[in-house]
Amino acid sequence: MPEGDTVYKVAQVISKELEGRSLTCCMIRGVYGSERLAGSIVTDVKAVGKHMLVSFDRDLELRVHLGMKGSWHRYKPGSRWKKPRSTAAVVLSTEKTELVLFNALDIELIPTPQKKWHRQIQGLGPDLLSHQEPDWDDVIKRAYKLRKARDELGEILLDQRIAAGIGNVYKSELAFLGPMEEDAFKPAKRGYSPFLPLKEIPLDVLEGIYRRARVLLQANLGGWFRTTTIDRRKAPAPKEGIVFVYGRTAESCRRCEAKIQMGFQGLQNRVTYWCEGCQIK
Ligand SMILES: [Zn+2]
Repeated sequence: MPEGDTVYKVAQVISKELEGRSLTCCMIRGVYGSERLAGSIVTDVKAVGKHMLVSFDRDLELRVHLGMKGSWHRYKPGSRWKKPRSTAAVVLSTEKTELVLFNALDIELIPTPQKKWHRQIQGLGPDLLSHQEPDWDDVIKRAYKLRKARDELGEILLDQRIAAGIGNVYKSELAFLGPMEEDAFKPAKRGYSPFLPLKEIPLDVLEGIYRRARVLLQANLGGWFRTTTIDRRKAPAPKEGIVFVYGRTAESCRRCEAKIQMGFQGLQNRVTYWCEGCQIK
C-alpha cells in the first residue's frame, strides 16, 4: 500500500502534467461514456490521504486508490506502452503527455456536488500532510470513537479514518520510534509495541506518535528514498540504514541491539516489524 507521502508525490507529478490542460483523450475502465471527458479541462489534482483526486471542469472528479500494485506511467503520445493496453485502468492524455494508470485497487468517477457525502472521502481523518496542522485532539478522539479498547497500536496507525497518510512502513517505524520529542528522527528512549492495545497507550504518547508521523511524512516529499533515520531536507542519505525496523528481520536493533522481529497483524494480516528488547509491551 503506498504511503501518504508517495500518493502526494505522484499527485504533484500528475498535477504538473494535467492541471489547466485540456484532455485530448480519456478512458476510465468501468465508467460508461468516460471517453466523453475528452475536451474537458483538468482543474485540480490532489492527494487526500491515500486517495488521489483529479477534478474536471464538468463537475466530475476521478478518485483513484492505487492499492499495492497500482502505478502511473507517463508516455509521449503515440509511444509504445510498457504494459498491455488491456490492463490500463485509466488513460488521460493531453497534447504533450499520455498518463496511464495500471492495476489500481479502486477507481471511480464522482459527481463533484456529491463528493461531500461520499463515504470514503468523508470518512477520512485529518490529512497528516495538509498545510494546516491537524487538530490533534480530534485525531485522538477519533481513535477512541472508531476503535475498541483492545485494538492494537499498529492497526490504529493504519486506520485512515483516524488520520490519513500512514502506511505500513511508517506504522512499524513509528511504533519503534515512539512519541516525538525534539527531533522527529531521533527515537524516544523506548518505543511502543505495535501490539499494545489502545487502552494501554497513554494519550500523550498516541498524540506524540501522530505528530512524529506528520514530520516524517513531510520530510519525505522530496523525491528521494523514504527514510525515517535522517531528515533528507537537511542532510544527505545515511550510510547506515534508512529505516529502524521495517524489513530488518533478525538484524540487530539500532537502539538496544536485540534482534528485530517480523509478524502479521490485524484482520488484514499486515506485516509488522518490531524489537522485542526496547518497545513497551
Ligand atoms: Zn531494540
